[in-house]
Amino acid sequence: MRKSSLSIFTFILFGLLLNACATKDSSSLAKRHAEKLLKQMTLEEKVGQMAQITLDVVAKGGDRYASTEPLEISPVELKKAIVDYHVGSILNTTNNRARRPEVWNRIINEIQQTAIKDTRLRVPIIYGIDAIHGVTYTDGATMLPQEITLAATFNPSFAKKAGEITAYETRASGIPWNFSPVLDLGADPRFSRQFEGFGEDPYLGSIMGSEIVKGYEGTNFLDSTKVASCIKHFLGYSVPISGKDRTPAYIPEHILREYHLPAFKKAIESGARTIMINSGIINGVSVHADYQLLTKLLKQELGFKGVVVTDWADIENLYRRDKVASNMNEAIEQAINAGIDMSMIPYQYEDFCNGLVKLVKEGRVKESRINDAVLKILTLKYELNLFNKPVTNLADYPDFGSEKFARASYNAASEAITLLKNKENILPLAKGKKILVCGPNANSMRPLNGGWSYSWQGEKTDEFTQRFNTIYEAVTKKYGQENVTFIPGVSYTKDIEYYKETKERLNEVFLAAKAVDVVLLCLGENSYTEKPGDLNDLYISDLQAELATEVAKAGKPVILVLNEGRPRVISKIEPLANAVIQTYLPSNYGGDALANVLAGEVNPSGKLPYTYPKSPNTLLNYYHKPAESQKKMDGAYNYEGDFTPQYEFGYGLSYTTFEYSKLSVNKKVFSKDDDLTISVDVKNTGSVEGKEVVMLYTSDLVAKMTPDAKRLRRFEKISLTPGEIKKVTFNLSAKDLAYVNQSGKWTIEPGEFEIAVGNLKQIISLDK
Ligand code: BGC
Repeated sequence: MRKSSLSIFTFILFGLLLNACATKDSSSLAKRHAEKLLKQMTLEEKVGQMAQITLDVVAKGGDRYASTEPLEISPVELKKAIVDYHVGSILNTTNNRARRPEVWNRIINEIQQTAIKDTRLRVPIIYGIDAIHGVTYTDGATMLPQEITLAATFNPSFAKKAGEITAYETRASGIPWNFSPVLDLGADPRFSRQFEGFGEDPYLGSIMGSEIVKGYEGTNFLDSTKVASCIKHFLGYSVPISGKDRTPAYIPEHILREYHLPAFKKAIESGARTIMINSGIINGVSVHADYQLLTKLLKQELGFKGVVVTDWADIENLYRRDKVASNMNEAIEQAINAGIDMSMIPYQYEDFCNGLVKLVKEGRVKESRINDAVLKILTLKYELNLFNKPVTNLADYPDFGSEKFARASYNAASEAITLLKNKENILPLAKGKKILVCGPNANSMRPLNGGWSYSWQGEKTDEFTQRFNTIYEAVTKKYGQENVTFIPGVSYTKDIEYYKETKERLNEVFLAAKAVDVVLLCLGENSYTEKPGDLNDLYISDLQAELATEVAKAGKPVILVLNEGRPRVISKIEPLANAVIQTYLPSNYGGDALANVLAGEVNPSGKLPYTYPKSPNTLLNYYHKPAESQKKMDGAYNYEGDFTPQYEFGYGLSYTTFEYSKLSVNKKVFSKDDDLTISVDVKNTGSVEGKEVVMLYTSDLVAKMTPDAKRLRRFEKISLTPGEIKKVTFNLSAKDLAYVNQSGKWTIEPGEFEIAVGNLKQIISLDK
């Protein structure tokens, strides 16, 4: 017995070693091939490799900005771009819509045929796409919960699985490069792309980010079920001062390093091969022209060896939007010299290619910089095996859109759903109850999916998702047609004409509510991303608040279901709800998962990956500073300097209860190089099985720079049957307690630290 398990172990170890060597070898082999090829290239050919265009440019159609349907490649435009200008990369879909995988295979095949047959050096193009939560632009692909939803599971295995499924189906579509994951810190709930990241906590973001990257990249470069990931948007994209997309941010270096950088650093260590740059402006400097961030920090300090790609039109933006360059060539000069390797142009590639060649000839950009960039791009193409296998075939991907992948998507959604309120245990809801389902999110797949679903803004979702269940459909299937009534009530925003009718609609909802046992009020946001998601008012829209008020007047219990990309303020209507459930953006199986949570077939175990604000003037993170959470004073000086969120980061209820005991730390006094072992017992004290996220927080009680209230250092999700006790052990190094000081250096000072798990706390001290 021992012998056989030993030999299995040896076998596995050998396999892992072999794989690691293969990866290392194939990587250096790829680099050697790339070096050889680079030597044969003209300057024009090299510069072309650094150019990326959008598919509309080479598709048949009226102009570069739109194409005719059905999608066809224009041989003339393709030849011009790929053969005459040597363009090395293409991205995106045409007319902003999803395509069948067979179409993708055909289109990419046509492009590659031109690239490998008609170009002098037969260099394949590298196709890139935004496969943000599953393959956004592939009809029939498995859509997965958005990153914010994955974060709420606090279960990193879902991030890895999501990465694996997406990689597989992206490759099945013929595409080897995915512009994902977003690793921007979701610290500002106003930001339109908060849902694209893993929430407000740097540690949670690092763990989830690193797992999804592993899922995308795998361990074997030549594996044609894997893709190159593109971590984005480096760095500090998500916290512009106005809260609006692509507007200036002001971020001191210590904040940038302590909160924004860790997820990128860990993802690079986990094998991310490409990175996309922040479209914004930090401390007055456009990031695409920032040598300090792109070359000094990213390439030199972090040692990032992969491809650095711009975001959409961001070289042009240096000139047209930011006015830091007085013409296009100056913009190109700034960006390439700052460290950009590839420009997502995406339309006027002639300007970029001609301009960059000219700049090299004039000595304004060194040819060595071009060689450095192109070597990376070619190496990536070799690593992805594009020279040997420039196209893939759907037939080789039998799991595309499979039941197995669908299950994984459902499982992630059901572990993410977060129960935020459950007054008098109104949930789970017994079968046989009469339910009114209402609200704009009740009967559409679009808000369940959010942006980057079948189109950029997700507005085409309902066209592609007929076979999935909306919330209303899933609830009907669960509770029976005869028990469920549906009235949408209102839309999201107040349109005057509509509003006249709305009065009548509200009354209709009120009357319907009177006739049932319980109301399922489905509110939130419609889909959006980027600039179109900019917001002036974080409150949930007025019409929805009115619907909540009206429906509550009927006097029946209200279950408020939230389906939103960011936490819209609900403090004025929250008291009207007996239960509140956050579904985030759970995607195509979100309705089914929710119905199972309502019925008690799934015990909710999601936790908030951000602080849910109570009012628009207190958008603080859980790791705010002591000065930001002062107690109220009585009387005339009753100011509002306190920290009272609607729900805290990490919050989420269950249908069972858990009790924490026996918190123990192996060292009460420790030194800078010590490791700490912290353990705690967790017991399921309720009557149903449940999952609990055990979270370890630490607080530096006194530091030279005002310390954070607390910081998440470790977490583990466990499952417990009624009465069961499990011991959870966390290993921490003293260095994990450090912070970044004013000089940008990680530091840890002697003194007391508080360790907290559940409701238990202990003080430990760092020795001098
Ligand atoms: C977004 C990126 C995206 C790119 C390509 C940009 O507008 O900011 O996240 O990868 O477009 O579609």
